[in-house]
Amino acid sequence: MNMIANHPPTSELQALDAAHHMHPFTHAGELKDKGARVIARANGVTLTDTDGNDYLDAMAGLWCVNIGYGREEMAEAAARQMRELPYYNTFFQTTHVPAIALANKLAQLAPDTLNHVFFAGSGSEANDTNIRMVRTYWAQKGHPEKNIIISRKNAYHGSSMGSGSLGGMTFMHEQGGLPIPDIHHIDQPHWWAEGGDMTPEEFGLERARQLEAKIEELGADRVAAFIGEPIQGAGGVIIPPSTYWPEIQRICDKHGILLIADEVICAFGRTGKWFASETLGIRPHIMTIAKGLSSGYAPIGGSIVCDEVAEVINNCEFAHGYTYSGHPMTCAVALENLRILEEEGIVDNVANHTAAYLAKKWATLGDHPLVGEASTIGMMGAIQLTPDAERRAKFAGNEGDVGLITREHCFKNGLVMRHVGDRMIISPPLVITDAEIDTLVERAWIALDLAHKQVE
Ligand code: PLP
Repeated sequence: MNMIANHPPTSELQALDAAHHMHPFTHAGELKDKGARVIARANGVTLTDTDGNDYLDAMAGLWCVNIGYGREEMAEAAARQMRELPYYNTFFQTTHVPAIALANKLAQLAPDTLNHVFFAGSGSEANDTNIRMVRTYWAQKGHPEKNIIISRKNAYHGSSMGSGSLGGMTFMHEQGGLPIPDIHHIDQPHWWAEGGDMTPEEFGLERARQLEAKIEELGADRVAAFIGEPIQGAGGVIIPPSTYWPEIQRICDKHGILLIADEVICAFGRTGKWFASETLGIRPHIMTIAKGLSSGYAPIGGSIVCDEVAEVINNCEFAHGYTYSGHPMTCAVALENLRILEEEGIVDNVANHTAAYLAKKWATLGDHPLVGEASTIGMMGAIQLTPDAERRAKFAGNEGDVGLITREHCFKNGLVMRHVGDRMIISPPLVITDAEIDTLVERAWIALDLAHKQVE
């Protein structure tokens, strides 16, 4: 039997899955009792599982399916490229048309002098590239001791040894010997949780100035770069106060520190521009990209690098690369994705309509008694669950319990929404319609009601 086309019943699939498939970020013991959700197919913003249940996917997979599911042109672009040239590498002075075309397209889309692309297979790999690239840059300029990278607590930059070290998730650092040396973390700009009595603007400055204090503590001659997600995604869709990024930019400029914007979630229309750096006025030397680059249809990531850094790196042999750096099929799929985003005006539509509609509807969730704050930026949103919005209080018991309960009610009501602690977050496909946004918010409200009853 062709197991994929004519699959066995769900319970059998779940048993096989639990027996043989090791999942990322999953407690496997729990899967044995419960079984994983088995997703069979998807179209637009809707997922369907093997039992025929539909879910509105408010997370666009893992923040990536910007153009929505089921686009035939993407399948055709992949098939065409596989027939023409399924694989060749870009090592040792070799190249091919899809890699050339995609690098050119990205250079055209990216702001300022971000004109050079180093391809990877994922965001994690791209951030590993960035660690080696910024250290090599300073070594080439005669400053090998300038090798420290400063990041933030509760940041997410990937799961490899390098990118996981850049990330600031303590539960990840507890496993496998992270972080690697010479990565330092400052506090995050999460006003709701950590802002105390300060206004968001005061708090944004205070958190940004931790970067300056850290640079002064370590010595600017030791610090290579600062990395940050323009908007923290996996940390809970944390929209920084308006004062934060301008101050970070000032500090990096003043101390001659390279600035890396990890745009893996935020790029390709998520905030209504091609890159969130444009939305927030950040001028990075390097941008990390992945996810929305191919809308998740093919695994591809990369680093978009400015002229100044690329000139130095291109002066040596950068002893770095992946078998799938610039893989022809993934490049062809990414190019088709960018064509769809551009020609169908999807990014403009987010800026001119959908983000505002989502913001208006999402804000209504702020009236729910379980919700302290409902915020969006572009097509990313968060609601903070709290027993007391006035005091920005936490629930008694373990952080995340109420979030988990709410998430389970979402699933039961046909909505995929993620929880990070007691924050519920969304990042739907950019092509979501107004009617689908209405459904999303209705289902979220029902889930909040059910969770509220359970925890009262
Ligand atoms: N950077 C950010 C900001 C991310 O959100 C992620 C993944 O969620 C990554 C990097 C890692 O990307 P990947 O999972 O493709 O390795």
